[in-house]
Amino acid sequence: MISIDGAVGEGGGQILRTALSLSLLTGKPFTLHSIRAGRKKAGLKRQHLVCVQAAATIGQAVVTGDQLDSTYLSFTPFTVQAGRYHFAIGSAGSTTLVLQTILPVLMRQAVASTVTIEGGTHNPFAPTAEFIQYGFLPALRSIGIETTVDCQQAGFFPAGGGCLHVTVAPVGPIVPLNLLERGRLVALRVMAGVQHLDPAIAQRELDTLSRLLSPLARAQGVQVECVPLSLPGQGVGNALAVLAVHARHTEVFTSLGERGKTAEQVARQLAARVSNYLEQPAAVDEYLTDQLLLPLALGQGGRFSSRLISEHTRTQAMTICQFLPDVQIGFRTMAAGTGLTEVTVRV
Ligand code: AMP
Repeated sequence: MISIDGAVGEGGGQILRTALSLSLLTGKPFTLHSIRAGRKKAGLKRQHLVCVQAAATIGQAVVTGDQLDSTYLSFTPFTVQAGRYHFAIGSAGSTTLVLQTILPVLMRQAVASTVTIEGGTHNPFAPTAEFIQYGFLPALRSIGIETTVDCQQAGFFPAGGGCLHVTVAPVGPIVPLNLLERGRLVALRVMAGVQHLDPAIAQRELDTLSRLLSPLARAQGVQVECVPLSLPGQGVGNALAVLAVHARHTEVFTSLGERGKTAEQVARQLAARVSNYLEQPAAVDEYLTDQLLLPLALGQGGRFSSRLISEHTRTQAMTICQFLPDVQIGFRTMAAGTGLTEVTVRV
């Protein structure tokens, strides 16, 4: 029985999700205490509870402590089964984080699975559907992991109502990731859309992104491409995404419209994050860094350059090594005084 302290490092939901995935894959039961102790409202929220229930369903696990606001959980997995699954969060909780819990498990089964997940698809502190579709999944595809995600309905806080339809294929031969260099800039695509809001909002965001990012794009020989983002659904919301497509890697940056912030302010803040990335040489940005560690640890490992190693990333490395003691995850500073780091995963 592995005992995990949910308060270490980042102290967030990722410790729980990674423990669930790895417990199912290794067959090792675990207990987790002080769940999400690093967050203002600690304990299991609806999204985390659905992660537990989804993991328990696909792995026929015996669970205690699976109640809302619980700060303690014990999880004993049995046999994982691929198949057709449907999970509904019942709030605007993040569907993509439920996906990240079960994807590593389902991809390792002998047959394909299809999963429908209902809830939020555009949440402020989670990957959006576009981040998954255009950034995370292509990175996995480059090492041999084939998953498709169709965002059939976009769900925003507070209404939710989003729907992801996911197909997970069994992994074939996986190759190590070798992504120290991202290659030249091939395209800079800016996307914005609204759900039941004035379409002029999205247009102003596209205009602002295009104006602010054009000088950097032109300096590298490309034109900014503006692409409307379709966000079908029942609620109200506004989402933006920027795809920095390089010869060897695509990095995705996303943002959501907020009450009290103008379209220009939202777009300016996003453009600043994209500029930060474009002006430095690392291939992978902050969020994808923590999200790549688990697929690499389950595959053939690899190495990549990262702009920034967050507390999330360090915590993720610790949780992975608790379940997979043979895996070594290293961080080597590439340029003193910058965040630029070489991340190595040895399996
Ligand atoms: P936690 O805070 O522990 O629940 O984990 C949140 C997860 O969401 C981490 O894997 C982050 O990398 C990811 N995440 C948070 N914000 C973003 C964002 N803006 N874009 C992509 N991923 C994000």
